[in-house]
Amino acid sequence: MNLIIFGPPGAGKGTQADFIVDKFNLYQLSTGEVLRNEIKNKTELGKEISSIINSGSLVSDDIVKKLVENYISNNKYKNRLIFDGYPRNLNQVQTLNELLTKYAQKIDLVLKLSVSLETITKRILERKTIEKRSDDSEELAVKRYKTYEKSTEPVIEYYKKLNLLKVIDGERTIDQINKEISDIITLI
Ligand code: AMP
Repeated sequence: MNLIIFGPPGAGKGTQADFIVDKFNLYQLSTGEVLRNEIKNKTELGKEISSIINSGSLVSDDIVKKLVENYISNNKYKNRLIFDGYPRNLNQVQTLNELLTKYAQKIDLVLKLSVSLETITKRILERKTIEKRSDDSEELAVKRYKTYEKSTEPVIEYYKKLNLLKVIDGERTIDQINKEISDIITLI
């Protein structure tokens, strides 16, 4: 089984992805993390993309395609991938379809963790009080939330039409969300 997980920053996507990976013996492919590692390891690619990532823009679709193909083509990950942060636009959806066909695989499920902007803001304010941070992370988070919702909308709509999308209410407790996701995956 291959699946895609969507959710705005602060929705608890990382926590849920860790849980799915452990429980169902899958592998998480976070394109953002792979790209950050390239920068950390000072690879040729890392040098090429560091200014793009640091400015918050998207890396070119071709670069991301190569990274993703490395994983899809690897037998170790065959039918065991959770895509996180990819695909981010309709061009990447098309590329992903081509790659999956090329390596005789498909997407079986698309999860969207749905959390309101109000809840995200509340979580950040709570964290800020606990950690006594006085940066502008609230303002930034609101901006990232809006950008995220807007840019992923057509992608999510695409998977909805294919009947692959399950929207998960991310306002509940971690355990409740774990259980719902677990039940959905078990039924596939
Ligand atoms: P993320 O951790 O998913 O928020 O990604 C961090 C950064 O990596 C993004 O701001 C982009 O610069 C880059 N990135 C991650 N995934 C993609 C993608 N699918 N397409 C293009 N750029 C990406």
